[in-house]
Amino acid sequence: MELYKSGKINRMKDQYGFKFSKNLGQNFLTDPNIISKIIDGSFIDENTLVLEIGPGMGALTEGLLDTAGHVVAVELDRRLIPILEDNFAGRDNFSLINADILKVDIDEIIVDVCEKTGFKPEKIRIVGNLPYYITTPIIMNILENGVKADSITVMMQKEVGDRMMADPGTKAYGALSLAVGYFCEVSQVAKAPKEVFYPRPKVDSIVLRLDLRDQKPVDLKSEELFFKVIKNGFGQRRKTMNNSLAGVMDLGKDRINEILSSVGIDGVRRAETLSMQEFAEVANAIFDSTCED
Ligand code: SAM
Repeated sequence: MELYKSGKINRMKDQYGFKFSKNLGQNFLTDPNIISKIIDGSFIDENTLVLEIGPGMGALTEGLLDTAGHVVAVELDRRLIPILEDNFAGRDNFSLINADILKVDIDEIIVDVCEKTGFKPEKIRIVGNLPYYITTPIIMNILENGVKADSITVMMQKEVGDRMMADPGTKAYGALSLAVGYFCEVSQVAKAPKEVFYPRPKVDSIVLRLDLRDQKPVDLKSEELFFKVIKNGFGQRRKTMNNSLAGVMDLGKDRINEILSSVGIDGVRRAETLSMQEFAEVANAIFDSTCED
């Protein structure tokens, strides 16, 4: 694997007249160890199609191309396109799309690439060193749209990763922990200090793998209502559940108290103490109670 040391990045910068854009979260990887850990932790082989988010100059892309059957990379910054095209000109398992990952249809991209190349992947894996300013929207978009991927292995700001992995009763636990935990099993792949990037970010980072679940961990009568209850519950963290949920479907505090006690939950508890199972029971009880009306 050729190393994208800061020296090489600087040479490419000079050659193409490129300047880093802070607004696009451009902190490029320069450490071969962390690149290997991301690739190993993604469980990629020649039968895998990888969709890479934000290839930058291609530090991670190169290792992905050596390992996967095909890599399709989506990069927003058009100044990076000629650099990537030149770097990977000889690779016939590489496709490049100049687009905003939040605005494309990932399933459509994958179907298109498979049709064009005739590649029939056994697994579809999303990988990337994410632009941190949109980590949560990128992941929630993939999960909420039900993109047909097997896993998402991504580098993100450590604090966001901590929120995704958090257990009830901890400070980091919240709507993001529940949403990610509902759709995926989460594992930590690696920790990454600031030194593995060029330019260095202000925060530490973490690589997580989110394996999309075949079966959801709780039974729901309405997914939409479940997420509405979570959103309201955590809307103002210091509020008790009977106050924060009173506005859900205009039920009011007395009715919410009845519903909460019907599933054995004390209305003065705060959202951060409720497990996913308890949120599911509350949402299902609200669903039943409002259907009776
Ligand atoms: N993968 C490269 C690496 O590790 O060296 C670059 C990672 S850098 C943290 C994030 C990359 O995402 C940048 O190349 C940036 O231009 C790109 N990017 C930012 N916003 C994007 C978006 N909305 N859609 C696609 N790519 C985006």
